[in-house]
Amino acid sequence: MHDDGALVEKRIDRFVRERLRPAVHRASVPLRVDAWSVTDAPVPFSEAVRQSYTAFGTGRAWGRPWGTTWFHVTGTVPVEWAGEAGTRVELVVDLGFSRATPGFQAEGLVWTPDGIILKAVEPRNRSVPLRARPGGQVDLYIEAAANPDVTSGFTFVATDQGDPATAGTDQIYRLKRVDLALRDEAVWQLSQDFWTLTGLMRELPVGLARRAEIRRALESCIDAMDPDDVAGTAGLGRAALAAVLARPANASAHRLHAVGHVHIDSAWLWPVRETVRKVARTFSNVLSLMEENPDFAFPASSAQQYAWLKEHYPELFARVKAQVAAGRFVPVGGMWVESDTNMPGGEALARQFVAGKRFFIEEFGVEPLEVWLPDSFGYSAALPQIMVAAGSRWFLTQKTSWNETNLMPHHTFRWEGIDGTQIFTHFPPVDTYNAQLSGEELARAERQYAEKGAANTSLVPFGWGDGGGGPTEEMIAAARRTASLGGSPTVELSTPRRFFEAAEAEYPEPPVWSGELYLEFHRGTYTSQARTKRGNCRSEHLLREAELWACAASVSSGAEYPYDALEQAWQTVLLQQFHDILPGSSIAWVHQEAERNYAAVADALTTLIEVSARQMCGAGDGAVTLNAGPYSVGGISGLGGGEATETDAVSTPPAPRATVRRPPARRPRARQRPRGRHDRR
Ligand SMILES: [Zn+2]
Repeated sequence: MHDDGALVEKRIDRFVRERLRPAVHRASVPLRVDAWSVTDAPVPFSEAVRQSYTAFGTGRAWGRPWGTTWFHVTGTVPVEWAGEAGTRVELVVDLGFSRATPGFQAEGLVWTPDGIILKAVEPRNRSVPLRARPGGQVDLYIEAAANPDVTSGFTFVATDQGDPATAGTDQIYRLKRVDLALRDEAVWQLSQDFWTLTGLMRELPVGLARRAEIRRALESCIDAMDPDDVAGTAGLGRAALAAVLARPANASAHRLHAVGHVHIDSAWLWPVRETVRKVARTFSNVLSLMEENPDFAFPASSAQQYAWLKEHYPELFARVKAQVAAGRFVPVGGMWVESDTNMPGGEALARQFVAGKRFFIEEFGVEPLEVWLPDSFGYSAALPQIMVAAGSRWFLTQKTSWNETNLMPHHTFRWEGIDGTQIFTHFPPVDTYNAQLSGEELARAERQYAEKGAANTSLVPFGWGDGGGGPTEEMIAAARRTASLGGSPTVELSTPRRFFEAAEAEYPEPPVWSGELYLEFHRGTYTSQARTKRGNCRSEHLLREAELWACAASVSSGAEYPYDALEQAWQTVLLQQFHDILPGSSIAWVHQEAERNYAAVADALTTLIEVSARQMCGAGDGAVTLNAGPYSVGGISGLGGGEATETDAVSTPPAPRATVRRPPARRPRARQRPRGRHDRR
């Protein structure tokens, strides 16, 4: 037989590009677009909907960097679509998306006129299913964020756009498309068949019979169809692929638990304020996907991100809460944010869990047992003890696969900390937390999995991260097709908990890795943005002192404990320990904001310390020095206080003092609390 494999594979690619993809929509009509631009910070829907909008056609430029434009889109679903069986009506939007990575450019959120969020639109997720019937009216608002791409193709060269003061006012996007479209469901399904099969085919060895079998099936499919009537012959095409799609996986195929995922950096190449909107966009996509896919569950970490949703998008939060109760929206991680773990102190790392788990338990009645840090920049050997003490059972990351020199030899193991505590740990061998479930990714996961022979199960997190919008219906379609598909690993839509329980049962005695999980990458993160790092360090010390003296004042004099003020300060500090803020890897805007926040935290805590000291010491006119350290200094015992003496006076830069001068002071001189070794600079 002649070897025409290469020729046939080119024919398949051309058919997909020129015939199949263009046929996914049977028809489309443009909607009327009016626009209103926000001149400053984003505004809530209730304010945007009251503004006066002016006519705005597609093709026009919009959006200064970091600006927001609201598009009001209206129209009628064509009555002639009434007879079109096997279709769905959808809104298709192109805000001027580029080929840059999703999540690092424009994004939009679609609202109904009564303020209900439908779904987001992003570069790889541009459609919104609508319930409008033929002849019915469409009336929607799109909140479009003109977030600039500051990555320069991920070269990270210096940019003016990382700070609104220097980002300029030129409009950086051009509205390309706002249409109603009629999606042909059979053609869409066939398109997913092709995507999965061609992806698998290219991963199989050229000499393998299965590769040739898939190629012939795809060729037969194209032969069976009329290229000028793809919609009319899609059924014939799908029938031609049925047998090759039904071929089951090998008995020893690698088992993948596919877990819907979105890695939303709490700030990075955008400010915190934009992350709030990224969370709303992504979570609304997930809720929309859940309506269509009853077996789809979605884990998401970071209590802070749910707290933002609760504060800014209560209606969306209520829907998330209902899905958490149904076991489909799954809080994971148990931390306030996915923090850095090298620079925060042990107390702060513990507080990440205390604050995170408390939120999840109080809001949802759920305690996450998986520690979820896919992207933090290396992992302190103190963590296993803290994780286990917090009640967690499992740990997931994959960041160490970014190491420049030494590759970790395991994907599943017990990680042992400095005190001997061990925690069951998994690194997804797919080496990404933004998988699409492509043939290439699935094959890579199987190929790289290091526990072969001893175990055979790994986790693959799928979904576009940051502002990319999370999992898509195309990814779920890929998971369905690879549930059991000859030549492919098996893929099961799953949750972190189901994965870890299966992995632990399969591999009860995995290897033990003892000590730090150092990341051989991002090394400048220990030294860049020194003011942000100093702010964190100072805040941690002040928080301890404020809690100590507030507690002492409460016990000794019945003073009211300033719970809310301390919780607010902790939450700010915990947020800023996020793995792109404290390490100093964010844009200028983020670090300017971080420094302002640390200054506000220092002011608030200094005031709390002074108030507590006055409550403890009562009225009088002497000076008292409090020693927040553990050891006696200058005659004042550790964690105690007493009459100040000359030896207490320390000439150092200004710092919050626990010394209280009670007016009128008889000995007016500057004093400061004795400093512990952690205070030395
Ligand atoms: Zn990250």
